[in-house]
Amino acid sequence: MLPGVHCPKCQSARIRTSSRRSAWEKVGELFGFAVLRCRDCDERFRSGLFGIRDVFYSRCPLCYRTNLSSWILSRYHIPRVSRLLLRLGAKPRRCAACRHNFVSFRLLKKGDPELRGPGCSLGSL
Ligand SMILES: [Zn+2]
Ligand SMILES: [Zn+2]
Repeated sequence: MLPGVHCPKCQSARIRTSSRRSAWEKVGELFGFAVLRCRDCDERFRSGLFGIRDVFYSRCPLCYRTNLSSWILSRYHIPRVSRLLLRLGAKPRRCAACRHNFVSFRLLKKGDPELRGPGCSLGSL
């Protein structure tokens, strides 16, 4: 089951990702458009996972939730890739649900309250 995704036809929450995917659909998936299938009525539909408006917002890569907070950079070991992304302007994000820390260029769904406490200076990286 995918959180917040419902079948457009019968409103069922019993959704799974479709296995029959074209190359074009795989490209779409990279941009957040998933091809999904309803287990109840077999309806096949697109982009339910992210929703068109939500493409621009940060989302936890593990559980797809948008309920995110920030994390203090100096308190965590930051992988090289993430460090590079932060230098390029990405923001530290933390998933409130599964506590996964990641970096993202996308906006927070609820405004963008940046956590800028002491020790959170990107300039010294
Ligand atoms: Zn359905
Ligand atoms: Zn998560």
